[in-house]
Amino acid sequence: MARAVALLSGGLDSTLSVLLMLRQGIEVTAVTFLTHFGCDAGDTSSCSKDPSLNAVKFGFEVKLCHLADKFIDIVKNPRYGHGRNMNPCIDCRILMLREAKELMSLTGADFIVTGEVLGQRPMSQRRETFPLIDREAGALGYVLRPLSARLLKPTVPEMKGTVNRDKLYAMSGRSRKPQMALAAELGLTDYPNPAGGCLLTEPNYSHRLSELLSENPEPTVNDLHLLRVGRHFRLKSGAKAIVGRNEAENSRLQSLLNKDDYLMGVEDFGSPLTILRGGLRGDASEEDIMTAASICARYSDARHLPAAVVNVMKDNAVFYLNAGPADGGLIESLRIEKRNKTVLPIKAL
Ligand code: SF4
Repeated sequence: MARAVALLSGGLDSTLSVLLMLRQGIEVTAVTFLTHFGCDAGDTSSCSKDPSLNAVKFGFEVKLCHLADKFIDIVKNPRYGHGRNMNPCIDCRILMLREAKELMSLTGADFIVTGEVLGQRPMSQRRETFPLIDREAGALGYVLRPLSARLLKPTVPEMKGTVNRDKLYAMSGRSRKPQMALAAELGLTDYPNPAGGCLLTEPNYSHRLSELLSENPEPTVNDLHLLRVGRHFRLKSGAKAIVGRNEAENSRLQSLLNKDDYLMGVEDFGSPLTILRGGLRGDASEEDIMTAASICARYSDARHLPAAVVNVMKDNAVFYLNAGPADGGLIESLRIEKRNKTVLPIKAL
């Protein structure tokens, strides 16, 4: 029986591609790639919270593979550049296909399957980009894209007759309608919407990440996870303050607290939690602590008072200080946020 390794995000396109292989009697081992940036990208149409959702129903195996530092390296230095934001899509696809090629050799599979659709993404899903990616991954001729295969050059499994090309598709572009019709035909009802996905395509996250990398080229995984939470401020010394925006973010901040971090909140008023983390030049200074406390007060229910009592905790020791809420000018100058061309009035910040 012919065997394939499939890149599976759990999104519609990659799942359909697996089902098309199963329909041709091909045994599929799917692999879901995980990164620190919240996406897996067996296809790039969507990312699923549970990529194995359909594995049991349709009868295929799913393996998880975390790309960890290998992925961080290409985010920092992509050979083929970033997309509109920090997304290094071409390098990312090459990396994933290289890993899939290894799995193909290990498992004795005949070829690789992806859910890519010609023209769906401007960077990595172009006619001239597919062969480049496949060649760089050492898998030229062995990467089958079943949804668009009839618009592309035949691959080795098609030429050998392992896969029947006539039963593949000629989809292209960004519309999901043909995929949704095929899903209905194949009995695929459970798949996520195309929202969400890779954080590296989000302008604000990308801006925070690029700011972090310019301050600290070797961030920890914890630093990267912290970028997803709260409002971020870079203080003059290089220290950073992060302010929760709601209960969920406050809990998340607590879970990401490091031993050397300060944790703050305003006493007796509704208050966000605020983490103060020292920069590369060392621990947070007294001035940093005062600034972070004033930012915390600015987002608390005591923001209209001249000053508030802020509790500051580090390593189970607690102390208190009086801090006046930071004014809009300070907030604007320290906040790490992608600016729109329209400048907002300070009171709207
Ligand atoms: S970098 Fe591009 S291809 Fe890779 S996971 Fe992010 S959006 Fe998908």
